Amino acid sequence: MVLDCQEKRLGRREVAPAAQWAGSGLDRVRHQALQNRRREGARFGNENGDGYENGNGSGRSGSGSAAGWVRARHLRSSRDTAILSTMGESSAANQPCELCHGTGWMLVSEDGVEMVRRCACAERERRQRLLARAGIPPRYQHCTLEGFRLWHPPDADVDPSLRHAQRAVQKFVDLYPENPKQGLLLMGPVGTGKTHLAVAALQALALDKGVSGRFADFTALVLEIQMTFGSPGPRQEQILEPLVKADLLVLDELGAGKASPWVMDLLYYLVNTRYLERRATIFTTNFTDPTDSSPATFEPLADRVSRRIRSRLFEMCHKIELRGGDFRKFQFSHPQYEKNA
Ligand SMILES: [Zn+2]
Repeated sequence: MVLDCQEKRLGRREVAPAAQWAGSGLDRVRHQALQNRRREGARFGNENGDGYENGNGSGRSGSGSAAGWVRARHLRSSRDTAILSTMGESSAANQPCELCHGTGWMLVSEDGVEMVRRCACAERERRQRLLARAGIPPRYQHCTLEGFRLWHPPDADVDPSLRHAQRAVQKFVDLYPENPKQGLLLMGPVGTGKTHLAVAALQALALDKGVSGRFADFTALVLEIQMTFGSPGPRQEQILEPLVKADLLVLDELGAGKASPWVMDLLYYLVNTRYLERRATIFTTNFTDPTDSSPATFEPLADRVSRRIRSRLFEMCHKIELRGGDFRKFQFSHPQYEKNA
């Protein structure tokens, strides 16, 4: 399991003797749990609060009863869990993790020393939150590498470029962050599955490697930036900075919107900063390049995004060409087929 490996990698940083937590939130939690035990023990006639009425766990004498003892244990358990839940990342709201009871931390004992350790469920939930913040449109949220369909039109075989593209994207995910080039440029006609593969990589990296990613549609981004011109609302930095800083950016449909020269300057800033800081970017585009083996059915990419952005793209990205029929067009007349975005 990738997650298990990650746990081991994080192990040294996230495991510490419980004594080192004096004054920390966890220490307060343990103190409060002890106080609760004492209160509940007092309520049921036991100062030690250990659930037993005579303090040594062996008797049933005193003012309490067997039913009271059972109730004390139940209260102690549920209340401690509730307090602990305020400290960490609770797992599914109605089904707390059995290992940490929804706190995100486990108390373990190693060589007689009490330690605290981050529970695997906390990391899993952190990654799910990363993914939720990535801004993937609902239309593409189902996209996974395993779910990429090697579709072909009824009158033709599967184009080998699709299988190659799927493998190349999987390799990019597997090698991350040690990729020879820090980006991918997925080029090809509409409906061949470029966005599907780009989103699949984003999802896999967020869930398997804890990578913070962002999805941005090029046309929407251009419009958003243009709307900042001379009007109140989000400023250019507010729009661009999350995209500049994300570990992984998917910029979809590059060149689809025609940007004015000053917007193009800002887009160059975005692309170039990510290039200089070696952050991974996956671009998809329907536009072709004069060097492509496929016929130039559209305006060349350089004409859509400027020569200097095009030049950066090829420096920072491994180019992947997809060919084949338009799956979305086919799907329109065959709605029983699942989506390949
Ligand atoms: Zn847990």
